[in-house]
Amino acid sequence: MSAPLDVLIVGGGPAGLSAALMLGRARRRVLLFDAGQQRNRRSRRIGGFLTRDGCSPRDLLRISRQQLRAYPTLELRDGVEIVSAKPCASGFQLRSKTGEVFLGRKLLVATGVTDSPPPIPNVERFYGRGVLHCPYCDGYEQRDKSIAVYGGSTDALALALELTGWTSRLCLVSDGLCELRPAQRRRLSASGITLREEPITGLKGRGSQLERILFARGEDLPVDALFFHAKGQARLDLARELGLDADRRKPLKTAGYGKTRVPGLYVAGDASNHVQFAIVAAGEGAAAAFAINTELLKEDIAGSPRRSRAVLAQEACQPETRLLRRA
Ligand SMILES: Cc1cc2nc3c(=O)[nH]c(=O)nc-3n(C[C@H](O)[C@H](O)[C@H](O)COP(=O)(O)OP(=O)(O)OC[C@H]3O[C@@H](n4cnc5c(N)ncnc54)[C@H](O)[C@@H]3O)c2cc1C
Repeated sequence: MSAPLDVLIVGGGPAGLSAALMLGRARRRVLLFDAGQQRNRRSRRIGGFLTRDGCSPRDLLRISRQQLRAYPTLELRDGVEIVSAKPCASGFQLRSKTGEVFLGRKLLVATGVTDSPPPIPNVERFYGRGVLHCPYCDGYEQRDKSIAVYGGSTDALALALELTGWTSRLCLVSDGLCELRPAQRRRLSASGITLREEPITGLKGRGSQLERILFARGEDLPVDALFFHAKGQARLDLARELGLDADRRKPLKTAGYGKTRVPGLYVAGDASNHVQFAIVAAGEGAAAAFAINTELLKEDIAGSPRRSRAVLAQEACQPETRLLRRA
């Protein structure tokens, strides 16, 4: 039996791909799985990613993958969903939806989060284009425009106040349920933010460009965008299966470098942190890769492996050498 892979990565967004790049450069044998549901896939452009500001999410992935192809010890498995993770003698055992089994010494979970847009009929048509959640990602393009903020909670109020940094044309649309206390309402109006409390019946626009919010009563509200407070759910089922006590609603708080309490298990990207930007996810992936490689190096040096890493890396380039372990 040949050795298991050095690192298995689940998730091919900025975090997972960036980790793969660093590990490929460290000549580690890596297999990355990606189910293709990157969080920003419906967006037109990525804002705030140095050197890629304004690039489409699709182009970012295309360029990343093109660059990763230069590293012969990396393999990417697109469209493969990992459904279970178990500890095993060599480290970790993953099983795909189609029943394939893979072994790796270390595991990086970079599975991101899932978002739920506001419960408005036809919201899906505009989600990621005119229905947005992150002022830092999309606020600049909406500067000085007419923006509505969805919800009647304190979180919605906080988002509306935050957006005053981008525009003064703001309206909180509470969709029939406003929990704001009198002092909070006064704060809204002192900040020049109007409030519409009627239930929302739908959104109207041209293509995916949002133009109006429709209410059960009263006039439509002309808007350029609708922001909402996203409560993204971290995709941490695999980490939980491996014994991590991770909250279903929140990203996992990891120690530095994405380390977790489970030895050899790392979590990076949106699944692991509260600053959820693509460039931060990429940075976290790179940092986790550094820590993983350091850990592997220590083990390799302590364990006097029979074959040197350079030999293993060469083997990985040869098609007849399948480094994947399949049970
Ligand atoms: C509408 C929208 C717009 C955004 N715009 C911006 C922006 O302009 N600028 C910015 O910096 N950030 C933006 N973001 C945030 C950005 O998308 C995230 O910060 C970034 O994608 C996080 O990267 P990640 O690698 O952690 O996760 P993701 O990019 O979400 O990638 C995770 C990947 O893991 C895969 N996966 C999950 N589970 C499994 C499994 N079991 N098996 C196999 N694969 C799996 C998923 O399918 C997915 O492809 C936006 C987010 C949204 C929702």
